[in-house]
Amino acid sequence: MKEAYDRGWITTRDGNCSLVREENNIFYITPSAVRKNVLISESILRIKKNPNATELILPDGINPSGELEMHWLIQRDCKKTRCVLHLHPTYTVAAMHAGWSLPKLVESFPELYRYTKVGPNVPELPATSPELAFATYEAFSPDERGRSKFDIVGQTNHGVTAIATTPWDAFEHVERLEHISQIVLASGVEIR
Ligand SMILES: [Zn+2]
Repeated sequence: MKEAYDRGWITTRDGNCSLVREENNIFYITPSAVRKNVLISESILRIKKNPNATELILPDGINPSGELEMHWLIQRDCKKTRCVLHLHPTYTVAAMHAGWSLPKLVESFPELYRYTKVGPNVPELPATSPELAFATYEAFSPDERGRSKFDIVGQTNHGVTAIATTPWDAFEHVERLEHISQIVLASGVEIR
């Protein structure tokens, strides 16, 4: 989150991240409205995840990210260690704002799609809404075991959400897509 802040991909209190560890079934998530540029590991919330539960039971007094529902839907059925990272990378959001479909935008760049599978754009929906949570979850096209067809999806006029085994791998999906978005926008080509 600090690196994302340093790159200008979030303002101070934006962005959120969750991680579920296969070995202990703990659901870790960033708290709501904290300053991500000074986030410390002790601030991360830890919630016990019942492996078969369809709902997450929140202990009293904790205040997780407003995008908790999105994180939970994406994490719920996955039995492996998984990180879900949500950021607002500038050029990627600009490309969607300009009307680009992100999977179309990357199709001429094999160095990206070799490593990062980009799902369909999620339409413009209110931040932290159940509609955004569900549309983002659906855009990953998960199977019944929670395995996703894509590594990253964009949310129109908002941000992106990436999935990987570790936070840095998720970060790299965002980084690759952001780099290609910057290149395409700099080229000035028309939207197809
Ligand atoms: Zn956001």
